[in-house]
Amino acid sequence: MKQNTIVLLIALFSLGLSAQQFTHQDTLRGSITPERAWWDLNYYHLDIEVRPDQKFISGSNLIRYKVLDAQKVLQIDLQPPLKISKVIQDGKTLEVKSVGNAHFITLKKKQIKGEYNEIVVYYSGHPKEAENAPWDGGFSWDTDNNGKHFVATSCQGLGASAWWPNKDHMYDEVDSMAISVKVPKGLIDVSNGRLRKVDKETNTFHWFVANPINNYGVNVNIGDYVHFGEKYQGEKGILDMDYYVLRDNLNKAKEQFKQAPMTLKAFEYWFGPYPFYEDSYKLVEVPYLGMEHQSSVTYGNHYQNGYLGRDLSASGWGLQFDYILIHESGHEWFANNITYKDIADMWIHESFTCYSENLYLDYHFGTNAAEEYVIGLRRNIRNNIPIIGPYGVNQEGSGDMYYKGANMLHTIRQLVNDDEKWRKVLRGLNRDFYHQTVTSTQIENYLIDQTGIELSPIFDEYLRTTMIPSLEYTITDSTLKFRYTNVVDGFKMPIRIYIDGQEHWLTPNPEWQTKTFKGNLSTFKVDRNFYVEVSKKRP
Ligand SMILES: [Zn+2]
Repeated sequence: MKQNTIVLLIALFSLGLSAQQFTHQDTLRGSITPERAWWDLNYYHLDIEVRPDQKFISGSNLIRYKVLDAQKVLQIDLQPPLKISKVIQDGKTLEVKSVGNAHFITLKKKQIKGEYNEIVVYYSGHPKEAENAPWDGGFSWDTDNNGKHFVATSCQGLGASAWWPNKDHMYDEVDSMAISVKVPKGLIDVSNGRLRKVDKETNTFHWFVANPINNYGVNVNIGDYVHFGEKYQGEKGILDMDYYVLRDNLNKAKEQFKQAPMTLKAFEYWFGPYPFYEDSYKLVEVPYLGMEHQSSVTYGNHYQNGYLGRDLSASGWGLQFDYILIHESGHEWFANNITYKDIADMWIHESFTCYSENLYLDYHFGTNAAEEYVIGLRRNIRNNIPIIGPYGVNQEGSGDMYYKGANMLHTIRQLVNDDEKWRKVLRGLNRDFYHQTVTSTQIENYLIDQTGIELSPIFDEYLRTTMIPSLEYTITDSTLKFRYTNVVDGFKMPIRIYIDGQEHWLTPNPEWQTKTFKGNLSTFKVDRNFYVEVSKKRP
């Protein structure tokens, strides 16, 4: 009884803490509210006009959904200063009650379980301007060197509701989507999927996405683009690869984008077929660094290798490839094919994709290059807060999801100790979670099942704490003593060591263990591929 009271007090206390940190708006945005849960997205037709001169957009989004449970009130998200002018279902105007970014629409039509219904949301306004795209996104209103409008959207985290009305939660995706964008004459819009037609009279571009797509993957890119392309013979047949770049950059792009088919080659090998053959693969130049927009990867790395010319790993290998081209393309598998349900689990996108950079190197430059690169990335790890963030409030965890997450996966590859098997696991992920939204737990359990390794404490350690396992050891004559510190309960990750260049495995845990070797222990070395700290103690 007493213990229960304490537990209750602790629960109330932590509830109080989280209530201080997060607002009702965060919950409306980040959780599956009752007004979201009863209907399942099927289709969007986003139909807008973009007027760069006025930094103004207007239009509508048709939302088709399947009724899962007959309810009357439906939540749609759209962020001010954009305004909903009306919402229509079957010709009838509906009542809208707005609470900040969330708009609660009361339906008149009787909703019947299993049926498909549509609403059309009309809206307009001056959308949020991107301050530091893509991180602080919105609309980037720019001009090219010839003074022509150069406009793009980016909205991961911020939410697609910053520029169009939708169900702005990642758990639910439409099965397909049409995007129609009217732009000033002389400019082209490139969005996602395939260009079905161009209405020449109004200069409206009609795009169609044949696959499920997450909200932040949807994008509008407007510019004086020129197009070139190629056909790629991939695992699933011919893949159309199309490139849209500013007129002045055509020659540079033709050279730099030779890395695009190389990327497809490496990633299809490691991850399986490119997940959106029906929608083609595109690279689209934008006025910001880049983003993984689905089948419409946006690129702003100025046609140079590295990350804006820099090697994030300081190993030299980071200058052997175009970081944005490779990284954002890697997201087609981890972000667009396999998508987090809650942004708290964003490591599913960024850890695997950061890790994919090293697999690209592995494929084209060899395993040593790949190792040096991913190990070099450790210099960027901060261990400030855990990689997994709080759930239900649209809040991501630490930026360590990139470099630390990649090194966790690289460490797991060592534990699997069979590259062919590891490759099968990575391909299996993309096959078994094909076009799905998932939780971290699902991905963790899959890796545990498929590798047959007890990875649970390893995930807890690297994803849910800021600790790095420390391997402490002492050497006395031919005896090695070793243990782990800074680890979660149950952590006993095997680790590869070398004595006289000979490979041995230890299975340390927090208790001191003793092992006697025949070789010269002064040559003792821990395999650098394991992301652990190593510390020699006095015996
Ligand atoms: Zn990324």
